[in-house]
Amino acid sequence: MKPASFNYHRPQTVEAAIGLLARYGASAKPIAGGQSLGPMLNMRLARPEHLVDLNDLVELDFLRASGEVLEIGAMTRHIRIATAPEVRRAHPLLAAAAATIGHYPIRQRGTIGGSLVHADPAAQIPLIATLCNAEIIVSGMAGTREVSASEFFQAVMTVDLRHGEMLTAVRFPVLAATTGWGFRLFSRRRGDFAIVAVATTLSLDGDGRFATVDIAVGGVDSVPLRIDLSGAAIKGEIPTESRVSDMAAFVADRINPDDGATIPAEYRRKLAAELARQALHEALERTRGVAS
Ligand SMILES: Cc1cc2nc3c(=O)[nH]c(=O)nc-3n(C[C@H](O)[C@H](O)[C@H](O)COP(=O)(O)OP(=O)(O)OC[C@H]3O[C@@H](n4cnc5c(N)ncnc54)[C@H](O)[C@@H]3O)c2cc1C
Repeated sequence: MKPASFNYHRPQTVEAAIGLLARYGASAKPIAGGQSLGPMLNMRLARPEHLVDLNDLVELDFLRASGEVLEIGAMTRHIRIATAPEVRRAHPLLAAAAATIGHYPIRQRGTIGGSLVHADPAAQIPLIATLCNAEIIVSGMAGTREVSASEFFQAVMTVDLRHGEMLTAVRFPVLAATTGWGFRLFSRRRGDFAIVAVATTLSLDGDGRFATVDIAVGGVDSVPLRIDLSGAAIKGEIPTESRVSDMAAFVADRINPDDGATIPAEYRRKLAAELARQALHEALERTRGVAS
């Protein structure tokens, strides 16, 4: 199919883009990499009267790692996030997750801003943003707001973004060198969206016992879920094989996936448990310097 007709705008500055979005309100939509919006336009699932193309906004294509924060501009492509040395140093988990998004041409075009606003519940960037409680920067005529990832994702493909606003950047806390991380996803074919994805970060104390563990699961609910592990009483525990399996089972107990047309809820739950177990192992190996 072909898209319904629309008016095309190509602003040269963020200010001009915001002006257009404010002027046309609900009848306008920004387009970034077009990897999600393009198909939706073609299938007429989206029919904006005004399309605001963000591709000339070079000021939103940036990576800034300073101190404890990695800030990434909305128009930064997945490929750059996956490969840039500053991301691999400051947030290797984000780089690794971005490297698994779709296929090479999709990573060349798709942007971090588009991925966050599109908010597919199984998508990699929203999962890592949720795990790390990234800060999402949103700008409109009334100024700039900072929204934590836990508040930004509201429902399937629904985020805290008002008409006339756009996402301009996202800030991730830099991962400490001593933090171990793990990322696992399972999809039918390489490059497909995940059925389930799990990301974790953890640290050990001087005696090799758990100090902190954070874990998030994608593909099992309307938004990525950060699982509260406080009930699992992990702090101070020795990370044995059976402890890790218990933690993975705890995670699977805390999710409540729906039965899909082709994928039963129980399948997703078992997959979440196994991927959590593998991700925790991977993270532990990193803290011990075994995994690269
Ligand atoms: C075959 C295929 C496989 C894919 N596989 C995966 C996958 O495995 N994992 C994954 O995460 N993604 C996957 N994707 C989607 C891809 O990652 C997209 O790049 C991403 O979802 C959207 O980014 P985009 O820049 O293309 O956004 P667009 O498609 O241009 O826009 C998406 C939405 O975001 C809005 N938007 C974009 N930028 C902004 C902004 N700065 N401010 C406000 N609103 C904005 C648009 O209005 C639109 O609603 C796949 C896509 C395809 C076609």
